[in-house]
Parts: sequence; C-alpha cells; structure tokens
Amino acid sequence: MSALNKTVSQAFIALGSNLENPAHQVRQAINELTRLPATRLLVYSSLYCSAPIGRLDQPDFINAVAQIETRLTPQELLIALLEIEQRYGRIRESLNAPRILDLDILIYDDLQCREDNLTLPHPRMCQRAFVLQPLWEISPDCYIPGHGVITKLLDACSEQRLQRIQD
Ligand code: ADP
Ligand code: MG
Repeated sequence: MSALNKTVSQAFIALGSNLENPAHQVRQAINELTRLPATRLLVYSSLYCSAPIGRLDQPDFINAVAQIETRLTPQELLIALLEIEQRYGRIRESLNAPRILDLDILIYDDLQCREDNLTLPHPRMCQRAFVLQPLWEISPDCYIPGHGVITKLLDACSEQRLQRIQD
C-alpha cells in the first residue's frame, strides 16, 4: 500500500541500547524518528537505565519510548525501523544479546496481529518495566490492546528496578 493514501495512525516505539555509549545511541535514534517518511514524532520519554534480563553477563541498558503519528503501514514502519538499526551497526545475534540499537513497535493503533515478522502489540512488552515505565510517563492512560490498562501491568512488574536518567 502507498504510504500516502492511508489515514494517520498512532504508534509507540521502544528504543534500547547497551553498547557503545547507549544514551547517545538512544538520543540519536529518537532524532532518526523525526526523519521517517510520512511520520511525525509527537513525544518521547526520559531515558531509563535497567539491568539486563535473561542474559546477565552484559552491560546495563538505556531505554526510552516515543509516540509517533504515521501514515506508514505497520510493515512499512517495521522495515524503516530495522533499516535504522542496521545503519547504526546492529548485529542480530540471539534473543537478549547485547545490542547497539533495538527499535520495536510496541503498539500500532488498536491492532492485534501475529505475522511471521511482526507481532502487535509487541509480545514481551507487558512483562518489561523498562518498556512500561517510559510508556506510562508519556501516556499514563495507555490501553494495551488485548492486555489492559498500563497502570495494572506496571504494578505487576514493580520488583524490576529502573533508574530514570536526568538530562
Ligand atoms: P527483540 O527486540 O525481541 O530483542 P530483535 O530486535 O532481535 O528482538 O527482533 C527480532 C525480530 O522480531 C525482528 O526482525 C522483527 O521481525 C520481529 N518482530 C516481531 N514483532 C515485532 C515488533 N512489534 N517490533 C519489532 N520487531 C518485531
Ligand atoms: Mg527488536
């Protein structure tokens, strides 16, 4: 579908990095979102520092969440985000491996889908404080399609420690 003949959608993007000056990578990536075609960056969260989950022998992560308005389809948006990751030198290893830049689509309107290369809402977002906390900061009334209100989900992972980074 052409990027120009579709109505505007709202999407939330998670940004993460734990290699090569992660805070810088995330700030640069937020800037990249302003350059996406047919897209407007609406708001973005503070940066947060979190300990790795799953694979513990790696540096802490820096995470943030941004809200965009876009005429890109979910697939077009995913391709554009993966292209940014590649440009920033992302090497795709195993799940939970360290990464220079990770860009995930958390939510795209009220869409729920499970395609080979795209699951919406993002399949692991509801168990991750490092996603939910920055999302709550910019959208405290957020409803995660198929999962419920953000405050309830955030309560369920309150034991995960996060540190907000001052600018
Ligand atoms: P993760 O972000 O879970 O650590 P990766 O960044 O290595 O994993 O992504 C692996 C694949 O996950 C991507 O190539 C992409 O096709 C797929 N994927 C499925 N759903 C999503 C989504 N909502 N956002 C981004 N990637 C997704
Ligand atoms: Mg990813």
